[in-house]
Amino acid sequence: MKLQNIKIVMVGTTHPGNIGAAARAMNNMGISHLSLVAPQCPVGETAYARASGANGVLDNRETCDDLPRAIENCSLVVAASARRRSLPWPELSPAELALKLDSMDDSNHVALVFGREHSGLTNEEIQLCNQMVCIPANPEFSSLNLASAIQILCYEIYARLGTAVPPGKVPDAHDLPAPSAEVEGYIRHLQTTLECCGYLDPEQPGMIMQRLRRLYLRSQLTRNEINILRGMLTAIEKQQN
Ligand code: SAH
Repeated sequence: MKLQNIKIVMVGTTHPGNIGAAARAMNNMGISHLSLVAPQCPVGETAYARASGANGVLDNRETCDDLPRAIENCSLVVAASARRRSLPWPELSPAELALKLDSMDDSNHVALVFGREHSGLTNEEIQLCNQMVCIPANPEFSSLNLASAIQILCYEIYARLGTAVPPGKVPDAHDLPAPSAEVEGYIRHLQTTLECCGYLDPEQPGMIMQRLRRLYLRSQLTRNEINILRGMLTAIEKQQN
């Protein structure tokens, strides 16, 4: 699903700085739809100052009287909470949430609901949500600052959804992992050079080439990187001749 289909809902927020910091965090992570449910503070100078330029998110915010209104068009509603509830609600980790959103198609709209600074979300509000997401933290001090909690969840989502190459935009082949034949060509070139400069004894090679092979295969070299490495080997060879 697209980042545009995700809405951050802040319920009963009392500190304008948290609204501004949340707008900034959202904009950093490509999420722009902010909904304030019965805010307990003005969205003015303090909020805009903390938004540090993410003014569009604040300008385009929606304000609702209650949570049902804010989530009415959403097919998935997830409550962020640090606390286990008396009636346990299905719980996701931040990474599981991102995975779930990634598996949903663009016809869905999703709300992530955050509670009040002092008292979080009520049980009634949680029970309007399909699931809960909990950010793992020190069990003796598990309640994060509101905007920090928004930042962490938006980051997890962006890391999963926002970094994919948009359809139609083909990455440069030279920046993709090179085909095996090119990697093998490089490894042969490396072996020859290491033998020529006396680092590798062809009579007693030991495990060096296997270890180097493991290193290079693990790092999935791109064509550009292979070109650089082969250029280095060629320069070394020229010095020797
Ligand atoms: N004192 C409140 C905590 C409020 S923190 C309480 O006990 O519930 C404000 C909001 O930030 C919370 O309602 C929640 O939406 C979010 N939040 C804070 N820490 C979190 C955590 N560890 N995991 C998920 N959300 C968290």
